[in-house]
Amino acid sequence: MTRERGEAQKGYGPQSFSIKYNNAATNDPCAVCGEGTDLRVGPELFLRKDSWEPVCYRCGRERAPVLAACLQAFRDEYEPRFGACPECGRPGEHMGIHKTNWFVCSVHEVCWFAGSGLFSAWLKETEEDWELRARTMYGYREVEPLHHPEAIVAARRRDEELQHRKLMADLGPRPRETEDPADIYS
Ligand SMILES: [Zn+2]
Ligand SMILES: [Zn+2]
Repeated sequence: MTRERGEAQKGYGPQSFSIKYNNAATNDPCAVCGEGTDLRVGPELFLRKDSWEPVCYRCGRERAPVLAACLQAFRDEYEPRFGACPECGRPGEHMGIHKTNWFVCSVHEVCWFAGSGLFSAWLKETEEDWELRARTMYGYREVEPLHHPEAIVAARRRDEELQHRKLMADLGPRPRETEDPADIYS
């Protein structure tokens, strides 16, 4: 509790912080509370002034909830814990087979192995569950998932462009505007 009061006296408010791009993972102490920060490469919270003093997630949530929520939304979207499909950058769908944890993108028919015994759900599952999933994954290409936000953003942009071009191709050529409207009925 003394620490809480000490922090309050420092007077850090939402405007004391900003999100900056961190280019090296570090465990430097938090500028507010002194605890380790465990920062990853990518957007992270720092003091706003011209420095690279990091701020931990707990202090961020307490003192700059909007910035902390932005950062969290970014992470949920672009740093999926178990990686993303290399074709479209979307997080995979979990497919547990016995203890093993696979993730798949059913649109691109790819799969990747994420580890073994990551969740306890398998204890309540049956052989039939696993067989059904194994059948779904049959023929899927095994790939290396994307983990880095920049790679994920790039993959999504590529995929969106591809979708857009496909849609345009499906629509066919645009009708010429100079055509006499009467032609339509002839
Ligand atoms: Zn802190
Ligand atoms: Zn995909």
